[in-house]
Amino acid sequence: MKQMPVIELSGTSYDIGYQHGTILKNQIHDFYNTIFELHMRNITAATDKNTLLDYTGKNIGFLKNYSVELYEELQGIADGSGLAFEEIVFLNSFLELEDIRPPELGGKLLSKRLWGCTSFNILPQASKDNKPYVGQTFDMEQYYSKYNIVLKIHPKQGPDQLVYSMAGILGLNGMNSNGIALSINKIVANDARFGVLYPLIIRKALAQVRVGDAFGAIVFTERAAGINYQLSCKDGVAWCIEASATDYDLIPIQGAIAHTNHYLSARMRKFETANWLSHGGSYVRHQVSSNILAEHLGKIDIELIKTVTRDHTNYPRCICAHGFEEENEMDAFATVAAVIYDTAEGIMYVCHENPCTNEYVQIKL
Ligand SMILES: [Zn+2]
Repeated sequence: MKQMPVIELSGTSYDIGYQHGTILKNQIHDFYNTIFELHMRNITAATDKNTLLDYTGKNIGFLKNYSVELYEELQGIADGSGLAFEEIVFLNSFLELEDIRPPELGGKLLSKRLWGCTSFNILPQASKDNKPYVGQTFDMEQYYSKYNIVLKIHPKQGPDQLVYSMAGILGLNGMNSNGIALSINKIVANDARFGVLYPLIIRKALAQVRVGDAFGAIVFTERAAGINYQLSCKDGVAWCIEASATDYDLIPIQGAIAHTNHYLSARMRKFETANWLSHGGSYVRHQVSSNILAEHLGKIDIELIKTVTRDHTNYPRCICAHGFEEENEMDAFATVAAVIYDTAEGIMYVCHENPCTNEYVQIKL
């Protein structure tokens, strides 16, 4: 059974980044080169390396303003890995690059082969053991799974964090020792702009002691792009936050909610990028996951959530996503990881690649 490496990081923000960069140096370089190649293919007018680096570099001013600590951690990753700061920022922009299609770069990302993550947020009253759960499948081009990691972060100040991430990236979802957890799914919003990158939003939210401050770190921020945030805490407070770059709406959670890659809020639909994911897979995944959760309200447990993540309705554009047979790892869109957080017990259930073929392992905060 394939498992993700678990890496312990501690100290100041710079120390944490430096350790990350040093330990994962080879993977970071490999990831950087691979992702660069992919984006060069996706963005026609990006003829050389500097076009893309200059583009993602325009986010840098927003990052320090948002969090000095995370800015220093990025610097630590750069120094530890031997890549330039701008190159680490580029790596941390991978999701924004998927949907900020800069006209001046001639983006061509409205691809029929792309689909996306499925996330869920379950309130205590909807679960069998009266505990909240939050999590997601993480779906990208298959090659991303090579860089999967779990980070156990012990900062000098603030709560400990257990984070799912990829080599060189601050974090993709996670949980902290104050019982706050956060997962996401991408929504391609048409108001994308230069701003705060999503991995920083994840980590700033997880650096908070109070769930209200985590909410603030997500919502009251100059976000670069649209993303749906599933925020939860062990006290049972939870939100499904449909965010675009400039606006947001809160989707009511009736016991449990699932979310995919389109806006549910009528008010937010104006931010939907026209014809994005026009194959309808997002709508199928939303209906399938919502139905399973609704049928089991009051009886949802970890095994049922795992079952949701293994669903193959509308294969291969399904919750447990697989590429088409003829595609290679650079093209095939697939589930690269699945993660479920039990904040009451401080346990992460994490599966490397597809949950239909691989097992979940438990990691304690
Ligand atoms: Zn599968």
